[in-house]
Amino acid sequence: MKYDVIIIGSGPGGIFSAYELIKNNPELKVAVFEKGEPLEKRKCPIDGDKVKSCINCRTCAIMSGFGGAGAFSDGKYNITNDFGGTLYEHIGKEKAIKLMKYVDEINCAHGGAETHMYSTTDTKFKKICMQNKLKLLDASVRHLGTDINYVVLENLFSELKDKVDFYFNTPVKKVEITDGGYRVIYGDDHADCKYCILSVGRSGSKWMEEICSDLNIGTKSNRVDIGVRVELPAVIFSHLTDELYESKIVYRTEKYEDRVRTFCMNPYGSVVNENTNGIITVNGHSYDDPARHTDNTNFALLVAKHFSEPFKDSNAYGESIARLSNMLGGGVIVQRFGDLIRGRRSNTERIAESTVTPTLAATPGDLSLVLPKRILDGIIEMVYALDKVAPGTANDDTLLYGVEVKFYNMEVDIDDNLETKHKGLYVIGDGSGVTHSLSHASASGIYVADHITQNDKPA
Ligand SMILES: Cc1cc2nc3c(=O)[nH]c(=O)nc-3n(C[C@H](O)[C@H](O)[C@H](O)COP(=O)(O)OP(=O)(O)OC[C@H]3O[C@@H](n4cnc5c(N)ncnc54)[C@H](O)[C@@H]3O)c2cc1C
Repeated sequence: MKYDVIIIGSGPGGIFSAYELIKNNPELKVAVFEKGEPLEKRKCPIDGDKVKSCINCRTCAIMSGFGGAGAFSDGKYNITNDFGGTLYEHIGKEKAIKLMKYVDEINCAHGGAETHMYSTTDTKFKKICMQNKLKLLDASVRHLGTDINYVVLENLFSELKDKVDFYFNTPVKKVEITDGGYRVIYGDDHADCKYCILSVGRSGSKWMEEICSDLNIGTKSNRVDIGVRVELPAVIFSHLTDELYESKIVYRTEKYEDRVRTFCMNPYGSVVNENTNGIITVNGHSYDDPARHTDNTNFALLVAKHFSEPFKDSNAYGESIARLSNMLGGGVIVQRFGDLIRGRRSNTERIAESTVTPTLAATPGDLSLVLPKRILDGIIEMVYALDKVAPGTANDDTLLYGVEVKFYNMEVDIDDNLETKHKGLYVIGDGSGVTHSLSHASASGIYVADHITQNDKPA
């Protein structure tokens, strides 16, 4: 088989590449290879009844398949250069924002038009945060919600399915350089192409490292973010979330001058398990539909760690901490803030008596046996700092789930076209280590598709 472009991975990066390639040139022969299932077949077996915790499926339905890791996400498309990746370092700040806005237009045209766009512009909370040693980062955010995000993906797929060849349940084993392009090897078969876009996301991180080593493409270590997910009654944060939906707040700790930040805020949402390469960590999401709201808001508190010499593998450090929580709790551990402060573990009775009803069935335990002191001290300081702008955050019954780890892929050596040293071989999205979010990953896909169609010369 011969294609003009092969895209590996059908997360937001891959989908938006395919969309833009076909929009720019409907004559192009494009294929997408995806190791997971089509959207409608993606189903995590955890039902809270027969299957209570992760059974390590061959491919994780949450992380893999059409829509990628973003398919069941909260669908928060942040339009900002302040977080979510460093795409702007390659393509410039103005271009990055322009592309994120364009992605938003596409999402709106495919079912997202009725959803809300929130913004930090002119908010009074910037000043309130500053007065309390906190910094509110600037962003506009379109909250599609898990439900509308799914609808948008369905609509994008029905538009693309007759114009692009999709190969689901097809993990790509290798990519080889051929005369005039690339060979993509899967199962016992292969397909050739002139341009190849690697968009394998977080779940393809180990694969990406192997490909870089095979093709002699440089990489450098990235950071890892470690922390907890906080869950509390939604009313405690409603003054912030009603206006901003998501507030990204940064705090510098007094003790170590470490940066602790809020991440992925889900008003009226649920806490969920996340499985990365067999390690169970915690995450969260929420629905746009009020009928599916819970009484709680959840968000992560994360501390960034970057190792360089002599130990370089920041992700392995994060994995070890997550493994420790999996070893002690059989998965995710939950602890009341009051128990943590008093130096005792939470147990089933204390959680049951708590005024906050957990939305995830996690194992009551003691996070101080899992998280390094420096990280835990930072999180506790941050909880008290947030209590000043959202009184009630430091209540005894506030729940902390651990651990939340944000793994980042190794940063792949790519130039300002997001192209490797091999002409026509591009690396986009979270798999490149450059983006860490839906909007940045999607924008990187559009950028590369435009680059290919603008520069393509007939063979
Ligand atoms: C629960 C959850 C909630 C989230 N919520 C948000 C949010 O609200 N806002 C936000 O900005 N971000 C959120 N994120 C992060 C966001 O989903 C990612 O940043 C985004 O999906 C990255 O897109 P991507 O296309 O680069 O990679 P991915 O979405 O990870 O897609 C990569 C795809 O490549 C496939 N693949 C990997 N290796 C191979 C191979 N060898 N062969 C074939 N296919 C392969 C995978 O199966 C996967 O489908 C969330 C993530 C999770 C897990």
